[in-house]
Amino acid sequence: MKISTQFDAGAVIVIDAENPADIRLQLRPDNASDFAQWFYFRLQGAAYQNCVMHFENAASAAYPAGWEEYQAVASYDRQNWFRVPTRYENGVLTIEHTPLANSVYYAYFEPYSHEQHLNLLGDAQGSGLCQIDDLGSTVEGRDINLLTIGNQAASDLKVWVTARQHPGETMAEWFVEGLLARLLDPQDPTARALLDQATFYIVPNMNPDGSVRGNLRTNAAGANLNREWQNPTVARSPEVYYVREKMLETGVDLFLDIHGDETIPFVFVAGTEGVPSYNGRIAELEIRFKNAFAAASPDFQDEHGYAKDAPGQANMTMATAWVGEQFKCLAYTLEMPFKDNDNLPDDDFGWNGQRSLRLGEAALSAILSVLPQLR
Ligand SMILES: [Zn+2]
Repeated sequence: MKISTQFDAGAVIVIDAENPADIRLQLRPDNASDFAQWFYFRLQGAAYQNCVMHFENAASAAYPAGWEEYQAVASYDRQNWFRVPTRYENGVLTIEHTPLANSVYYAYFEPYSHEQHLNLLGDAQGSGLCQIDDLGSTVEGRDINLLTIGNQAASDLKVWVTARQHPGETMAEWFVEGLLARLLDPQDPTARALLDQATFYIVPNMNPDGSVRGNLRTNAAGANLNREWQNPTVARSPEVYYVREKMLETGVDLFLDIHGDETIPFVFVAGTEGVPSYNGRIAELEIRFKNAFAAASPDFQDEHGYAKDAPGQANMTMATAWVGEQFKCLAYTLEMPFKDNDNLPDDDFGWNGQRSLRLGEAALSAILSVLPQLR
């Protein structure tokens, strides 16, 4: 029996893998910070054996509450990911599964690899409707790419979408894949109506270094990018620095920052009610957006989510707060679950890549509904 992690986003620490009935593992922290929760490893040589895998340091994960009701994902081919029995007891997370083949992968959530990311860029460019720009390089020299879709007319509304500031939140890039596919479909009436009036600026992966390294929350320098928006630097947070510079150049009329939440088993948004300039106009836009989103996707809801910020109490280092205040625009952090949407649960798959992709498609309907009021 062998456990390995030397592939894109691979991450686990093996303490003892001699006995399938008692495989001892640890979550591996991000490369330059203490955050730990993401895991992704390959297990070979255990076909038809009952494998009991213990994460002995699960209690010191970034979000221990994320393990309640959580089921890990597994795949034989890295295309089809399914949930496997998982329990959290006495601070230890345990996966118990009998693989039906000699080679099987286990992960915290369905991965989205750097190769997939590059293919996504290539496919978008190949549509003939999308321009790819390089905004700069990450800490480790990977490309920070921006997709621009639309006529780029001065009068166009500027819609910005960023995803995967937190690299372990792979659902965010699946969401972008769905949104892009619909936006680049020349037969889709919603896409056509949107592109009549708006130019889209999309960063499918804000944190390529952290993604490849299998980090949960930080870039290669240990920065939590979603706490860097007030004073980003080229040395510590170039990913934010360059995207922010581009935003200041284009302007922003609507901003969506796409994330996953470890703990809350619902899809929800968090807005800018705590920024100094929040007012009735933004509040009305929020209501319109949320109603349209709920109509477009039964996976969206507005009952469960984060507690609202008190007036003036927003954390201005976060992307949504900084953008909302800087551009006086509708700005949302969109959160999807790592576990499942408890309003529409799926025992076999939980929340996954495909469901994130469908949500990305639906988000365009919500964006269209607010377009006339954005300025
Ligand atoms: Zn996040």
